Amino acid sequence: MLKAPIPENEAQRLAELRSLQVLDSPFEERFDRITRIAAKLFQVPIVLISLVDENRQWFKSCQGLDSSETPRDISFCGHAILADAPLVIEDARLDPRFADNPLVTGHPHVVFYAGKPLNGPGGHKLGTLCLIDHQARTFGPEEQAALIDLAAWVELELGAARMETLIACLADAMLIFNIQGIIEEANPAAEALFGLSRDELLGRRIETCIPGYDQAARDQLSDAETASIGSQCAGARLELTCIGRDNPAIPLEISVGRVIWGGRRIFVSILHDLTARKKAAAKLKMTLVHLENQFSSLEQAHSETSAILDATKEAMLLVAPDGAVLEVNRRFEQFFSVIALEMEGRPLEHFLPVLEKIVAEPDALSTLLTTTYINVKKRFKETVSQVWPQKRELELFSTPVKTQGGSFLGRLYVFRDVTRERQVDRMKSEFVSLVSHELRTPLTSVMGYMDLVLDGDAGPLNEEQLEYLNIARRNTSRLASLVGDLLDVSRLESGSLQLKFTAVDLREMVQEVVQLLERSIRDKGQSVVMEMAPDLPPVNGDSDRLIQVITNLLSNAHKYTPAEGVITVSARSADSKVQLLVHDTGIGLTPEDLSQLFTKFFRADNPATQQAGGTGLGLWITRTLVEMHGGNIDVASEPGKGSTFSFTLPIHR
Ligand code: ADP
Repeated sequence: MLKAPIPENEAQRLAELRSLQVLDSPFEERFDRITRIAAKLFQVPIVLISLVDENRQWFKSCQGLDSSETPRDISFCGHAILADAPLVIEDARLDPRFADNPLVTGHPHVVFYAGKPLNGPGGHKLGTLCLIDHQARTFGPEEQAALIDLAAWVELELGAARMETLIACLADAMLIFNIQGIIEEANPAAEALFGLSRDELLGRRIETCIPGYDQAARDQLSDAETASIGSQCAGARLELTCIGRDNPAIPLEISVGRVIWGGRRIFVSILHDLTARKKAAAKLKMTLVHLENQFSSLEQAHSETSAILDATKEAMLLVAPDGAVLEVNRRFEQFFSVIALEMEGRPLEHFLPVLEKIVAEPDALSTLLTTTYINVKKRFKETVSQVWPQKRELELFSTPVKTQGGSFLGRLYVFRDVTRERQVDRMKSEFVSLVSHELRTPLTSVMGYMDLVLDGDAGPLNEEQLEYLNIARRNTSRLASLVGDLLDVSRLESGSLQLKFTAVDLREMVQEVVQLLERSIRDKGQSVVMEMAPDLPPVNGDSDRLIQVITNLLSNAHKYTPAEGVITVSARSADSKVQLLVHDTGIGLTPEDLSQLFTKFFRADNPATQQAGGTGLGLWITRTLVEMHGGNIDVASEPGKGSTFSFTLPIHR
């Protein structure tokens, strides 16, 4: 037996067969009527419309056979689809290709076979219309011609079935109607759109579904027809509203085509629902309006901000997280003789070379700017000395800028001209320094002579004289300590105070200070507790200045702690630093006091402070000295519960 060979264009042939979507579909009258006629006409017991699939031949219509398919390799049709002309086997038993074919030797006992290949709409041979008999027959040219005609009819029906499938699958509604506007065909999408079944739609006037259709279509089509006189069809496109199933006004885009078919004019119309498109367009419009509003309020806010920025005395530079210059204000342009438009939107790096001539230390400022603009946390203050186009002392303050939601917008650099302030400060310091110097010599002499008189070197004193003189002596020494503090302040401010670093044993130093203050402490009934490890490492410091620091903290603890109070001095070392803590059980400080504690001349507003003598300069001097040593000072305090002042110093290496 010769197996049915595979045609050359098999893949495309199978693709076309499947695109028809006919395989395994139910029998249809339109095909059955052809096979019935063929059986009668040719007087054969079996007639098939057989479609040759990959591994089988499947029967779309079949007369006289109870099976719906047989394997392809034993099929006669598999052979028939190789040629255009019908394949005629008058007696299969005598044909070596088929003699031992199971369809010949067994059921259905094929002896005679005549099959005309069926061409699909794409031109591929998809199967056959075939006749089968159980006895040998002759099949002359006339009979062959009749078979070819019937096969052409099958092909027409296959094309129509394909078209119907396509129309049924259309996502858009489709209506076919005649010249009177009576609907003759409707697809499932049209049923869904109008909420009417096909039967309800057929026979209905299109005007009842789409009001205004007649007029609109007539106007447009007549234009189109004039343009396409003599052609078989003309088309037009309309936008109308229809009465839908769920909505009385569905916007539609309708394309209508007029076709002359069988001498009749019919109209094919595709209705595309525009609801989603219209909604999207409306939404887009709303979004655009919203965006426009947002944009104009942003612009307004921006121009307001720019106006404020331009009105400030400070030069401002705002840098985006990616390093681009977001904004510079007018003052910045004036300060540094640059043009905002040339900077904004450009990387900060472009501006850095200009710094060469503007500031005294361009590299330091460049590094500072380029290393900080991405920092989301740090706030800092620096001094910058400007040399061009004008000499200025600038204070640079920088802070991250965040939105209300906390996202990082960029970093702000504010340059403040402090030239005049610094000048005034210097003049003040010079004046204070001068006055203090001038006061110190006569004061020392006054105190010396008073001590002589108090010691009785100028003769005996009565009680009243002694009392008055002691008051004068106390006040003079207060005056002397004020002068001393003022001198220290002016030296620290002018930078003329130089530290002499050595290894300092803090434990010894604290003992020394406690000894000095011992008498006053004892007189007040206070006690001092020392909690300092004997193996505390030495610190790197100027011993005279550190004595001053410790004396100030201990004498404050003594002054601002009531009688019987306890002063505890402790120390610990960690991370290459030693921390010294002075704790007292004294009057403590309010949070407001704490915020101003280290500023010059600050004295807390409480009776104990008023009673105790002081200048309000001690803690400022103490903090400045500690910081000059590379340390930090800190305080923790609560009113009525005492205070703990602590400072760190680097360990001596
Ligand atoms: P003063 O010469 O007034 O002591 P300081 O600068 O040393 O100046 O201190 C400033 C102010 O801080 C003091 O006037 C006092 O009000 C407050 N103060 C300092 N130390 C203490 C302390 N240990 N307890 C409570 N208040 C203190």
